[in-house]
Amino acid sequence: MQQHVLIIENGEGNLELIAKLVRRAGLTPVGATSLTEGKARFSQNMPETFLCAIVAYSLPDAPKGEAIDFTVESFIPTIATTESLDSAIRDKVLERDVVDYIPKENSQNYDYLNRLISRLEKNKSTGVVVVSTNRVLRSKTVSLLQRHNFIAFECLTATDAMQCLSEHKNVRLVITDNTLPDMTGTHFVASLRKAFSKEQLAIMGVAGGKGMLMSAYFIKSGANDFLRVPYCHEEFLCRVMQNVEYIESVEEIRRVANTDYLTGLPNRRHFFYMVTVQHQNLSEDHALALIDLDFFKSINDTHGHDAGDIVLKAMAALIEFYFPDEIISRFGGEEFCIYMPSTPLKEACERLDDFRKVVEAEIIQLPKSDIKVTCSIGVSGAHTQRVDKLLSLADKQLYAAKNSGRNQVKCEPPDVPQQEQASLL
Ligand code: GH3
Ligand code: MG
Ligand code: MG
Repeated sequence: MQQHVLIIENGEGNLELIAKLVRRAGLTPVGATSLTEGKARFSQNMPETFLCAIVAYSLPDAPKGEAIDFTVESFIPTIATTESLDSAIRDKVLERDVVDYIPKENSQNYDYLNRLISRLEKNKSTGVVVVSTNRVLRSKTVSLLQRHNFIAFECLTATDAMQCLSEHKNVRLVITDNTLPDMTGTHFVASLRKAFSKEQLAIMGVAGGKGMLMSAYFIKSGANDFLRVPYCHEEFLCRVMQNVEYIESVEEIRRVANTDYLTGLPNRRHFFYMVTVQHQNLSEDHALALIDLDFFKSINDTHGHDAGDIVLKAMAALIEFYFPDEIISRFGGEEFCIYMPSTPLKEACERLDDFRKVVEAEIIQLPKSDIKVTCSIGVSGAHTQRVDKLLSLADKQLYAAKNSGRNQVKCEPPDVPQQEQASLL
């Protein structure tokens, strides 16, 4: 569904500036420069297509926030804008049920608006757990989070929160009060940290009272942040946004570091990590295959490097499709690797030969022509529990497949010399 953002702004200049930010976030602006026009534009679209509205507090036909009232009453999450930071107007804006408000007085505020718009879409799949026995604090916090489209979970005890975290993998932030029935907030934070690192899950402590040490206690126990209750609306949302963005940035860095940029498959380094860490006890029956495209250099030479890239992506897509439960990787160049846990060598070789036939039959579409490719595959099996040894055995078989004419699968022969076997174990 195409996501719209209703913009009701003062003058064409402001409207165009904000429309640009909205387009940059991959959303479609629906613009107006008065409340009357805004109402007309709103009625031309299905209400549920609006992700949010960005509305000026003061407009020629709506000088006192009437346009904000209109979008809030129409159930569109509303971000209010003001010409400058004015505390009287700020209070009037925040009396209303708005997501946030932005004084348009400097470029950093536009940057904040840009982040906010992108977040509203992402927040729909981001969970936040709120832990407190204080019903008022809990419901105020949840209501603020929901205005930002977060999925908010309410918990009364540390035990409930742990249960909630184990059930909902989309949780990126826990906001916890200090006085919980089953343990103190700081103990809860310390025990959460045993299960989740600071890069996996953000934790914000909240506490009332006058004691100045609470924030230090929370942060020393492993919290990322702390807020004193009652908190200011804007500060709360800025901190939440910053903490969630931090977790997402680390996730993004990790994803980029583990992925081959061209094909999107796990890279060689991540492949080793997955095989050795996730399969610490390599199973008795397992196999490893090295797949190398035949005469790939000549594809580059004949059709160009971009065509070569298309072939590599097509090959990656085939591997992903035919080996959904195995650990796969682009090893580099035109070489791919598959680790098949719990698969006897014979079965692995049969599956890989079927795959070889699939590759041979596949027609890959290039911009100017269609092309067919073949691959050679070397496979090794359960002689050793060491992945580096499996690899060197598979590489030998790949070499043999190339030397025997290519487009074939060579499996590690069952009669590996005793001497070699002994050195591998
Ligand atoms: P063989 O059948 O013996 O494997 O021959 P080959 O031509 O496939 O192997 P060779 O090792 O001679 O050439 C591999 C080529 O792959 C050379 C290199 O330019 C190309 N290559 C490596 N990475 C990429 C890439 O990311 N994109 C493209 N288009 N080509 C790449
Ligand atoms: Mg090759
Ligand atoms: Mg090669």
